[in-house]
Amino acid sequence: MKSHKSGPFVLPVRDLIRKPGEMREHALSIPAPERWGEGIVSIPQGGELAVEARLESVHEGILVSGTVDATYEGECGRCLREISQPVEVEFQELFEYPGEEAADYEVQDDHVDLETLIRDATVLSLPFQPVCQPDCPGLDPVTGEPMTQSAGERPEPVDPRWAGLQEFAEQFGSEPTGADSRKEES
Ligand SMILES: [Zn+2]
Repeated sequence: MKSHKSGPFVLPVRDLIRKPGEMREHALSIPAPERWGEGIVSIPQGGELAVEARLESVHEGILVSGTVDATYEGECGRCLREISQPVEVEFQELFEYPGEEAADYEVQDDHVDLETLIRDATVLSLPFQPVCQPDCPGLDPVTGEPMTQSAGERPEPVDPRWAGLQEFAEQFGSEPTGADSRKEES
């Protein structure tokens, strides 16, 4: 007799097995069972994982997809300030029916266990070099204290998401605002 697993990540699929086309959605709030992540930021044990999962019965098994919203904690990789940032992670995996070859993810008896899938997706999404803000100036090399925004020139490249905006600002920003006054409003 096989063991009956239970736990917040274990979802019953008895009603979906071998019924392609059937699907069901779950919204779960699960405390992280342990610290997730080995880097300078991680999901703390007990941190809330807001999981939305869709289970779809397909020919080969149960297709599981969804999102998890969590908050990672740790410190800024530049200034060492403590940070806490939300992260949203997408996941998708086919839980196959047991066959001749062992699959990474399988339907077990009448359930699927999402813990490994959700943990791996979440840990992989954690930033390798987390920062408190994109232009964090880091630590003063002399004093070792966090530098303030105004200190010195900014050694870091502009965040690519803002590069276009900066070009725009350099192109038009220096013109006096009065230059627009000849524009005709209708
Ligand atoms: Zn920082």
